[in-house]
Amino acid sequence: MIKLSSLSKVYGEGKSAFYALKGIELDVPAGQIVGVIGASGAGKSTLIRCVNLLERPTQGRVEVDGVDLTALDAQALTLARRNIGMIFQHFNLLSSRTVFENVALPLELANWPKEKITARVTELLELVGLSHRAKAYPSQLSGGQKQRVAIARALGPAPKVLLCDEATSALDPQTTQSILTLLKEINQKLGITILLITHEMAVVKSICDVVALIDQGQIIEQGEVGWFF
Ligand code: ADP
Ligand code: ADP
Repeated sequence: MIKLSSLSKVYGEGKSAFYALKGIELDVPAGQIVGVIGASGAGKSTLIRCVNLLERPTQGRVEVDGVDLTALDAQALTLARRNIGMIFQHFNLLSSRTVFENVALPLELANWPKEKITARVTELLELVGLSHRAKAYPSQLSGGQKQRVAIARALGPAPKVLLCDEATSALDPQTTQSILTLLKEINQKLGITILLITHEMAVVKSICDVVALIDQGQIIEQGEVGWFF
């Protein structure tokens, strides 16, 4: 579902040029949860941001659902990105919008009709267990609740892929576990492929099928989680 080939990312130019990623090969089969783990500065964030081209790779291919995103024009890329949901460490909710309005936003941007948006948002809030908080603002929510809203928002356009950028790093261990359980449910019930990055072994052990270890911009080890540990 996701295939990164010969992927490199260089920051800076000339003498200060620096490979944040170098020759990455990574395959995320449909329906799996793949984790990329590594220390701070290893290149995890750059890698996951290359998957939806938030970061443009310097070299290499980024295929999602059989399409090379690096070859698309801006309009085609916007459409292709609806297939790729993303959640973040700090949730990135809009503080001036309610829970309902945050989840509705990507659907509004995709020009869904109002009734369809209402039905979809209602369904998504049910899925993440937050129907009772639809009218709340992000500042009134706990960290775990905020991440549930972000997950509902990411799933709105029914993406095939969910990217998780340190999605539980700002949460306490108990809340982390409840979010991981939700991600596993989404993977199993909806068949959504998940690529996550983390610096925490416990996250990988808890939900990943496959893990890749990244160090100084290169994947130095990868395999099934059972084998890895
Ligand atoms: P991680 O997510 O594993 O902590 P990052 O992908 O954030 O790693 O960073 C990898 C390396 O690239 C680090 O050395 C970081 O300082 C560098 N880096 C990240 N973003 C930029 C940028 N926009 N400009 C220059 N260097 C960057
Ligand atoms: P989490 O609940 O994800 O561990 P927090 O540390 O933010 O994250 O919240 C701890 C608890 O405090 C939560 O379970 C929640 O019930 C409560 N809480 C946090 N923020 C608020 C808030 N703004 N208003 C009301 N209750 C809150």
